Amino acid sequence: MSATIPSAPPPGAPAGPGRWLGLLLAVALVSGGVVYAVNERSEDARARVATVTPSSTPRSPSKASAAATARRVAIDTILIRRAQAVQTGNQTLFLKDLDPSNTKLIARQKVLFANLVEMGFAELGYSQAEERFDPAVVKARGRATYLVRILMRYQIPKVDVAPVTTELGYTFISRAGRWVLTDDDDLDDDLGPGAHREAWDLGRIEVLRGPRVLVVVEKGDHERGRAILTEAAEGLVEVRDYWPRRWRGSALIIALDDTEVRDARFADEDIESAASAGSTFSSLPGQDTADGTVAGAYIVINPNQRDQVDEILLSHELTHVATADLGGYEPLWLAEGAAEYVSWRGIEALGGPGEVAKWEQEVIDDALPTLHSLPTDAGFYESSSDVYGVSWLAVRYLVQRIGLDAVAELYEDMAAHGINQVSRDRILLSRSGLTEVTLWTSLRTYRPQR
Ligand SMILES: [Zn+2]
Repeated sequence: MSATIPSAPPPGAPAGPGRWLGLLLAVALVSGGVVYAVNERSEDARARVATVTPSSTPRSPSKASAAATARRVAIDTILIRRAQAVQTGNQTLFLKDLDPSNTKLIARQKVLFANLVEMGFAELGYSQAEERFDPAVVKARGRATYLVRILMRYQIPKVDVAPVTTELGYTFISRAGRWVLTDDDDLDDDLGPGAHREAWDLGRIEVLRGPRVLVVVEKGDHERGRAILTEAAEGLVEVRDYWPRRWRGSALIIALDDTEVRDARFADEDIESAASAGSTFSSLPGQDTADGTVAGAYIVINPNQRDQVDEILLSHELTHVATADLGGYEPLWLAEGAAEYVSWRGIEALGGPGEVAKWEQEVIDDALPTLHSLPTDAGFYESSSDVYGVSWLAVRYLVQRIGLDAVAELYEDMAAHGINQVSRDRILLSRSGLTEVTLWTSLRTYRPQR
């Protein structure tokens, strides 16, 4: 149990589908660039064949496609071998297909192997997505280079209810007729947010396991890991007690000393977020659908706040995790308001109603006048207004108006179907009699009953 009561609510951000839109645009632009580069390259090649070496025979299409097929099979075989190596704890097998001249890569891959084994995946597989072209990589490594986006599909027991997917970029080179992995980060800047920055990608880790929580810390940092396990168990009790949805899953909490883990960015000092909950995807955005399919969420703790992690902070993030698989289309004011609702119920239970009443009045007096509508998704996390407080107030108001169970049902409907403003207003109106506009005007005249 923690005795600390934060004076301001701990912000944290679930990365739902909407937050990927900018990324998708970027991917589309990159893809366009790739197509252009391919055309340019093949035209260059044809020009060379035609003018510089007119006597040589151009490679026939069937030969080229046979080479591509052989490469695909060779790389697939390597990927299968690496997954098998993790599942059987065979380090030699894992390192077998590495470029022997890249000693730094070999050292990094030994750490990666140990981490992957430590995670204890129920399922693990790698597959090739599309080939990518980067002239700088070809220039540095030679023509027999194959840069490919890789999908890593895995399942952490209890945490992931179904397999989820993350992405990587691998660079292979052909050495004496054999393909070897020569680098694993050439493509990182062109991948989605958080790619190649999973808990196991950053340094040697240790996993601590509780009944419904896995905590990932730096190797040897188990004292802190155990403290987080304890607080998380309390946080889970709060989620169970204060949010009606019966969620029986387990949470993954990552508390490393990196400021960039998955899609969490804590390096920016303007962002005082203590933790965040970032989505996992059973299908990545752009893979089968534009938004992808959200499977759940992992919690990442800000390294500078690791010693202040308590059940109140975690109950906020765990509420995101316990609602993450509902679809991810709920508006941020509802997602953050619900998470704040749970954590402030916890504060009330620990410290009595006085603190909550005081805070609620401050939100009404100080935060509401700084806004002209409910906090919008766009700019939510950059807002200088207390958007968390206002979101919390909106949920408190709805709970008073229609009851907590109905608010939880409203949340589920929004998460599954709130794909645009029309849908959101229809759902809100049918379940509460309000639209976002009339909810906002209601808040302006809201007098809490205590
Ligand atoms: Zn949050």
